[in-house]
Amino acid sequence: MMCGMGKLWSSVLDLALPLECGGCATPGTRWCGPCADAYGQGPVRLRPRVDPGVPVWSLGTYVGSRRQAVLEVKEHGRRDLSQPLGQALAVGLSRLRELGELDPPELAPLALVPAPSRRAAARRRGGDPVHRIVGRAAAALAPEQVVVAANLEMGRGVRDSVGLGAEARTRNLDGQVRLRGVIPRTGTVVLVDDVVTTGATASESVRVLSAAGVRVHAVLALVHV
Ligand SMILES: [Zn+2]
Repeated sequence: MMCGMGKLWSSVLDLALPLECGGCATPGTRWCGPCADAYGQGPVRLRPRVDPGVPVWSLGTYVGSRRQAVLEVKEHGRRDLSQPLGQALAVGLSRLRELGELDPPELAPLALVPAPSRRAAARRRGGDPVHRIVGRAAAALAPEQVVVAANLEMGRGVRDSVGLGAEARTRNLDGQVRLRGVIPRTGTVVLVDDVVTTGATASESVRVLSAAGVRVHAVLALVHV
């Protein structure tokens, strides 16, 4: 019942949104072909300043329609973009498998771990966009059974990292990423984030997961700065 109401409500919200592309504002579509192409060129391997010790990948740089789409989904509540961005992540994951960077599903089940975001920010936005996008990515890989392990939380002591350098970001996150609940310890575990800037969030997340006996195989972000 609740689920049905939720769906109905999200449909109502979708209808209330102006119909324009989330990447380039072209009217008459939620997500246009060229913007989909702009997200479909990666993944590219990154060398973040704060190295999490596992391969870090991104679907592209934080510019143009890629940047705009992330801003729309994070700051302007464009939930309808979760689907195309999740689809782009799913394509990126498939490419990493083709490159031999991740095991195929028949060898190891895939678990996607959304990177933690600041609680206050997630609340204000009416839910965590990264979690939603990761859920769409998992669905896009069907019939493969993909686990979405939303077990990482950001503590209350974390402040907005905009404008902070690598060292300050690392200090800001020190001891603030927490693991909650049970997380799969087998299979291929990929940490997923929206934007990789210095790699500080990814590094702290990988460290916390490792300490709990979870081996992270890769980090995949929608975009990188
Ligand atoms: Zn577009």
